[in-house]
Parts: sequence; C-alpha cells; structure tokens
Amino acid sequence: MTQLEIKRSDFNQYMVPLFAPAAFIPVKGEGSRLWDQQGREYLDFAGGIAVNALGHAHPVAVQALTEQAQKLWHIGNGYTNEPVLRLAKQMVEHTFADKVFFCNSGAEANEAALKLARKVGLLSGIEGKNQIVAFHNSFHGRTLFTVSAGGQPKYSKDFAPLPEGIHHIAFNDLDAAKAVINEKTCAVIVEPVQGEGGVIPANLEFLKGLRQLCDETGAVLIFDEVQTGVGRTGSLYAYMNMGVTPDILTTAKALGGGFPIGAMLTTDQFANQYAVGDHGTTYGGNPLASAVAGAVFEFINRDSVLDGVQQRHEYYVEKLKQLNEKFDLFDEIRGAGLLIGCVLKTQYHGKAKDINTLCGEEGLLALIAGPNIIRFTPSLIIPFADIDEGLVRFEKALERFVVTQKG
Ligand code: PLP
Repeated sequence: MTQLEIKRSDFNQYMVPLFAPAAFIPVKGEGSRLWDQQGREYLDFAGGIAVNALGHAHPVAVQALTEQAQKLWHIGNGYTNEPVLRLAKQMVEHTFADKVFFCNSGAEANEAALKLARKVGLLSGIEGKNQIVAFHNSFHGRTLFTVSAGGQPKYSKDFAPLPEGIHHIAFNDLDAAKAVINEKTCAVIVEPVQGEGGVIPANLEFLKGLRQLCDETGAVLIFDEVQTGVGRTGSLYAYMNMGVTPDILTTAKALGGGFPIGAMLTTDQFANQYAVGDHGTTYGGNPLASAVAGAVFEFINRDSVLDGVQQRHEYYVEKLKQLNEKFDLFDEIRGAGLLIGCVLKTQYHGKAKDINTLCGEEGLLALIAGPNIIRFTPSLIIPFADIDEGLVRFEKALERFVVTQKG
C-alpha cells in the first residue's frame, strides 16, 4: 500500500467528528511506553482505556496473533473454530459460567445480556416481566439499548425514542433498589466499580442486597465487568473478590489486550433460553481475536500477575497521596486494582480535561472519568520504574495546572 503522509489535521478533514483526539499521533508502542510521529516518548497510564492489559506489543500477544494470522483469520459462525472453543473452555473453567457468547465490544456484550434478560422474562410466562433496573452514572456502551441502560442522559438524550422499560436509581442505594425491583423486573445491570461514571466502587452490602432481590423476584443479575474484568481490579473478575456471583457477566476491553473482542458469560440455566438465531454477530468469536484473547487470558490469570496488580495499586495510591500532600488538589484517591481515580476538589470541578491535556504535554497518557476525575488504567504489568517516571510527569503537569489556577 502506498504510504500517504499523515498529519493530525487529517482527523478533522476526514473523520466523523465524534472524538477530540490529542494533538499528537502515537505510532509505536512497547510495554508502557509510546512514541509519536516526531519520536517523542510517552508513558502510558491510560492503556487504551483499560484495554492494553499487557502493555503494547507484548511478545505473548504478538506470538498468538502472528501464529494465528498464518492459519485462519475468519470463518463466520456458520462454522466454529479451534481458538474460540479453546477460549470458551478456559473462561468456563475459571469462572462461574457454563457458556460463553463472543462478540466484538463491551456494548455488544451488554446488548446480548440485556436481550437475553428480556427473553428470560418472556419465557417466565409472567406478563410484563421485561423491566430493567440500572443505575445513575453507569456506563454500558453506545448502542441505543446500552445508552438507554446507561445512567448518563448526556449519551442518550439526542437519540429518542429510546427503548422503554428501563428504570434508573441511585448507585449504592439498597433502599432505592428495594423500592423498584419487583416480579416485573427481568434484569438488574450493575458495574462492580463504576468506571466512566467516576471510578466509584459498589459497596459489598449493596451488591449482596441486589443478589438477594434478584433471587426473590426472579430477575437476572448482570455484572458489567467490561472495565473491571480480566485482572483489572486484582482478581480475574471483580465479582470473585466480592462474594456475589452474577447470573450474567459481560467482559471486553482487557480480554483481547488490544485486539477487539467482547463476551457474555452465563450459566446453562440462562444460556439455554437463547435459541439458534435469537441473536448473532458476523465477527464474534473470530479466530484471530480468540487466539489473542486466549493467550492474554492465560497470561493474566496467574497469582503472580493478579497479586502484582494489587501491589501496583498500593504503590500508586501511596505516591498519589504524597503528590496530593504537595498540591492539595484531590478530595480522594479511589478505585480498585489498576482502575484508579483522583477526585478533584470542588473548586477544581470541571478541570479534569485541562489537567489531562497538560499530562499529554508532559509526556504522560492519562484518562478522565467525567469532568472531575483523573483516571489511570495502565497495563497490569507496568514496571514500577515506569510508574515512578509517569508520576514525575504527572507531578509536572499538576505543577503547571496549579500555576494556571493562580494566574
Ligand atoms: N461497559 C463498561 C463498564 C465500560 O466501561 C464500557 C466502555 O468504556 C462499555 C461497557 C462499552 O464498551 P465498548 O466501548 O467496548 O463498547
């Protein structure tokens, strides 16, 4: 293919204006470091939004991808394939699930889960058992059904009419849940840690209470682990550390370590209520994606890696607290594992994006979670030396931010 010269301004000229990317274009990555077109180096605390769990170009993922690339790329779901069956076996063996459905993204995994819950409600024979309970601030993806389930109206308000029968209540408020969940409820969908909504962990009593309410009313409990899954919080899936097991779990992001893949996991009881043709996908369970995910899943699902996530969490939080002693910008440093949020004090509300831009200028990729929170979701195996170096750059960005606030 001819190599066209590419500039950042091409984005505005050729791309649908749905994103506002940074001023630089990364062209190469290795581990937790990236380089842009000018050869400038960046530390990566964003991980492609909680995706690059092994960093960039990890040899295990590269090997799985290149080996599979020489055998079979795509076959479609009229045939099955070895990598997808291997991956499904791995996931079933290491989770509560009996069955897996594969797709390409988190939104699609949630779409499959919500449709399954509606089908389960229908087959229950209880009239009107199709109501879905979801939470304020939650994020479940960008399809029409998932923006409607998500609890952030800014993502759905322009796209009415929206799917009906979805009730939003306060997160971590068990009394609100008790008031709304009833025999007409077919599903409750919840993130164990709200990611996009502000890095807000669910409290255990709340999740246990949801489990009990779902058991009492025959509703399906869906854990959206698209962001928290595959080691992100220090266990393979967050539910494993919470003493609450969902009926359906959705996973994506880190599952492919950077190769697009999503999955819905469930038990035989629910899986078998879907019949051939009820739902589908062209690419889901594609051999390339499945081969990479199989290698990534196996690599992460080891004590050494999962314990390392917790050690890195403690290391980050300690260092971030020290930075906060210096700058006094954050009310709280919160999150789980390597999903960490720095919550700006009220007087700095709305400024997370400004800080993030300064981070980029200082050679650090970070994220925001709404207007008031800086979010870090680095590689699960980021070297401690890279954490140190990235935090030095973060410190420089904060120093510059503080100056702008005084001026
Ligand atoms: N669910 C959660 C909890 C997420 O954080 C996201 C993405 O940020 C999604 C679903 C949607 O995933 P995707 O962007 O892969 O469709």
